[in-house]
Amino acid sequence: MGRMLSLFSNHTIKMRLQLWISASIVILAFSIIVPFYSIEKKNRLDEASVQLKQVIALQSLYIERWNQEKLDAIKRFTLSDNAKFHHIGDLKREFQDYAQVNSEFASIMFVEPDGYIRSDTDPKKQMYVGDRQYYIRGKDKKSFISGVIVTKESGIPIITFSAPVLGDHNDFKGVVVGIVTLEMLNKLISRLSFGDSGEVYVLDGQGNIVTASNHSGVNGITQQVTSEIYHRAITNSTVRTAYTGFRGERVYGEYQWSQEKAWLVVGEITQKEVFHKLNALGITIIIISLIALLLSIVAAIMIASKIERPIRYLLRATKVIQKGNYDYQINADKIRTAPAELKQLVTTFNLMSDRLKSNISLLEYSAWMDQLTEMHNRRYMMLKGNAQLQHCIASGHTCSVMMMDIDYFKKINDTYGHLVGDGVLHHVAGILKRYEGPDVIAARYGGEEFIVLLLRQDAQETAALAAELRELLMAEPYRNEQITVKITASMGIAEYAHTLEYGTMVLEDMVSRADHALYRAKSGGRNRVEIDRRGIDEDHV
Ligand code: GH3
Ligand code: MG
Ligand code: MG
Repeated sequence: MGRMLSLFSNHTIKMRLQLWISASIVILAFSIIVPFYSIEKKNRLDEASVQLKQVIALQSLYIERWNQEKLDAIKRFTLSDNAKFHHIGDLKREFQDYAQVNSEFASIMFVEPDGYIRSDTDPKKQMYVGDRQYYIRGKDKKSFISGVIVTKESGIPIITFSAPVLGDHNDFKGVVVGIVTLEMLNKLISRLSFGDSGEVYVLDGQGNIVTASNHSGVNGITQQVTSEIYHRAITNSTVRTAYTGFRGERVYGEYQWSQEKAWLVVGEITQKEVFHKLNALGITIIIISLIALLLSIVAAIMIASKIERPIRYLLRATKVIQKGNYDYQINADKIRTAPAELKQLVTTFNLMSDRLKSNISLLEYSAWMDQLTEMHNRRYMMLKGNAQLQHCIASGHTCSVMMMDIDYFKKINDTYGHLVGDGVLHHVAGILKRYEGPDVIAARYGGEEFIVLLLRQDAQETAALAAELRELLMAEPYRNEQITVKITASMGIAEYAHTLEYGTMVLEDMVSRADHALYRAKSGGRNRVEIDRRGIDEDHV
């Protein structure tokens, strides 16, 4: 489980949304389908069961009436005088007269009290039936309807209807027996089918099929029904589960006994038919759920992309800022359709990057500027100045450096105080800054010492500038309300030299050499300009 969760934890918003939406739709669909299906299944079964019960009730009523009719016809013969007084010839004529108007009996016969059926034309022709049920029952003075029996003579399945002939003193005088072939019963029942697969059939007490509504292929007595429904009927069971019907299909069935348990009327309908509509409905629900699933996955993708897009932009923007591009802004037009919170996040991000940019530039500015003189500092010169110097040299130009130190500055401090000293430094810086331009970078090097980098200018050109500067400093002394302070400065100049004498950097080397020149200017009496010879000499080699 933990493994599963950690598997999901790396997934994108889109994948998570899809996963959870899909899961909830599947759960929703199941929570609809499962109870719906079980309720509806029970309803369908009840419905089918009611229908089956109705059909078989009707059918058994029909069969009972049919049986009763046949038995009544036989009983009428037993009450006739011809039967009672043994006028066999007249009785048989009665049978024949009846047969002419009523064709349901295949034959009607008279069994004499000794158990024989005798021909009236040939007295020797006789058949013993004393062992037959109808005779035995008749002898007990009972009328009787047989189940399906197969005649020993012809092998045809028949049903017998029989009633005893009784004399005035209730004495046994023989049996009238009528024979009906199954064909006749079949004709009646074959009309009774229902639904597409529903059918009714009649079993006798032994489980033989007497007749079936869709009786194609069912040949009466040859089929003994050993199916579940017969066992249920025998045991009076009320179980209603599906079972395999005698045609081999899964069916639901109901049964009803009739004629004192001599006949069993069974109604069956296939499981397929009962659940046909339900299954169709179930499939429809599943299809609808699948469509909903598909639509919601599309919706999830759309929602996720609306959320994901601004997050992607934010992610990219933070990476850009991480690389040092502090003023990066996210284009608000690109996230117009994003949720409000994310729009706000993007706006805040843009404000933040704005603030960051101004703070960083303030920081950079103060890191590169000298507070007192408001000019570039030594750090700036060693970084930016050096970079420009290298670029300039790389493109084949010569460059120069001038170091300048105010003369007797300590004395100014001592005489007028540090505040005046500071003022002087600011004043000198202001004069130096006038020379600044694309090719001239000036910076306070430290204390009362200044450095000027001159790109694309050799020592001579720089010396000219230095001379001018020296004059300017003298011409523009520091003044405030009370005092005027004369200023002079000494300068040392060095031109770029191909081979380094000091340090490892070109600028370092030039500064050192300019410093040496400056030292010479100082020791030579101050307020003068000295040039380091090295770069110049090298040129002339
Ligand atoms: P020289 O002609 O040899 O250069 O003599 P100098 O007095 O100018 O040189 P020195 O190195 O002896 O003195 C420099 C003085 O500058 C020492 C220090 O107190 C002063 N100083 C350095 N930075 C500042 C500053 O920011 N403000 C003020 N007011 N004084 C400063
Ligand atoms: Mg100094
Ligand atoms: Mg000095």
